[in-house]
Amino acid sequence: MSRWGIMNRNDQLSEHFTLGELIRSETAERKEIDNMPPAELIPKLKRLCDEILEPVRNHYSIPFRPNSGYRSPILNREIGGSLKSQHCHAEAVDIEIASISNYDLAVWVKDNLSFDQLILENYRPGVPNSGWVHVSLKEEQDDNRLAVLTYSNRRYEAGLIA
Ligand SMILES: [Zn+2]
Repeated sequence: MSRWGIMNRNDQLSEHFTLGELIRSETAERKEIDNMPPAELIPKLKRLCDEILEPVRNHYSIPFRPNSGYRSPILNREIGGSLKSQHCHAEAVDIEIASISNYDLAVWVKDNLSFDQLILENYRPGVPNSGWVHVSLKEEQDDNRLAVLTYSNRRYEAGLIA
C-alpha cells in the first residue's frame, strides 16, 4: 500500500494545508456527502498544495481556506458542476484571501506560478472581494497550458479583466 493509502481529514498535505481543507465543501457538509477522494488522487491534491497554495500562502502571509480541491462525482452532480471540471480530478482549486482583491491575487498567480488554467471567476470591478480565483494544474508539467481567462456573466474572455 502506498503511503497515501490511509489518511484522514486532519492529516497535513503540506505545511499549511490539511486534506480536510482540500476537500471541504459546504454542500457536502449540508447534504452529508462523503467527499473523500480515492487514494490515487491524494498526490495530485498535494501538488496543488505545493505548487499553488503554499506559494500563495507564503507570498501574502495570510491564512486562507481553499475551496473544492476535490469534488466527488456525487457532490459534482449535486451542485450541477461540469463533468469535465478539473475539480473532479483533483486538478483545480478555488482561492480567496480576506483583504486581498481577487483581481490582484489572479495577477500575482499569473506572474509568479505555473498552471494549466487561471480563471478570475465572477469578479465585479470595484468590489475587491467579489468572485474567486480558480487555478488548475495538470499531472504532467508539460501539459500545462498557461491559459489566463476571466469568467463573468456566464462567458469566458481571454486575459484578466477588471
Ligand atoms: Zn474552480
